[in-house]
Amino acid sequence: MQNTIHDKNMIRFDIITIFPKIFDSYFREGMIRKGLEQGLLSINIHNLRDFTDDKWGKVDDIPYGGGAGMVMTPQPLFDAVQELRKQNSGPVIYLSPKGTALTHTRAKKMAAEIAKIAPSNDNKSPGCILICGRYEGIDQRVIDLCVDQEISIGKYVLTGGELPAMVLIDAVVRFIPGLLGDQSSHEEDTFSRKLKGKKEYPHYTKPRLFHDLAVPEVLLSGNHAKINEWRKKNLS
Ligand code: SAM
Repeated sequence: MQNTIHDKNMIRFDIITIFPKIFDSYFREGMIRKGLEQGLLSINIHNLRDFTDDKWGKVDDIPYGGGAGMVMTPQPLFDAVQELRKQNSGPVIYLSPKGTALTHTRAKKMAAEIAKIAPSNDNKSPGCILICGRYEGIDQRVIDLCVDQEISIGKYVLTGGELPAMVLIDAVVRFIPGLLGDQSSHEEDTFSRKLKGKKEYPHYTKPRLFHDLAVPEVLLSGNHAKINEWRKKNLS
């Protein structure tokens, strides 16, 4: 998944996880794959166990104060972040159900902030460093010492931060210029400013008749003023 060419202008995502294989398939398909191939993005997966001082490769321990589950220990996470900060000038984000909600607006803002970071002359790329938690989560001191933002992908609890990391990257990279074939497509998506935060109109394609359901006549008319009017009326 690593790009062979190191270009300081590319957007760089560094993901810290104990399950690196989870990412193998997703990032090798579609728009993200295209972005990687074109050198617009670089996504680097780091196995947290490579950073632990523990001779058995341990990265979790029982919680002080007792209670169910394990907690991810601070040393490997802290060391991983310090190492990755040498290459990535962006914020450190901990995916957490307790975090600020990831929304269309936030994803767009994050993309704009990343793009705004000027390439430095010390081999760092703009981007972000993502920490994927597991078990009961990570030691609070990692959050206090290293984390710039806590982001939640929704009001539910998942078993790990890997899916949230993929969701965040997917949502953010859509706003990177050049990634989407037709740049205007995200400008007219559900929640966009152009749709005044509303949900997009319905889409139809061939065939004209499917299981007795016909495509609305106006969409076949070629009259763009009328089509736009219909689409506006069908925002929800
Ligand atoms: N004990 C934690 C709590 O009650 O807030 C939940 C830990 S969860 C089982 C394990 C990891 O999954 C978290 O550390 C976080 O990285 C990730 N995670 C779970 N749900 C998430 C969500 N909605 N958004 C972002 N990350 C989430």
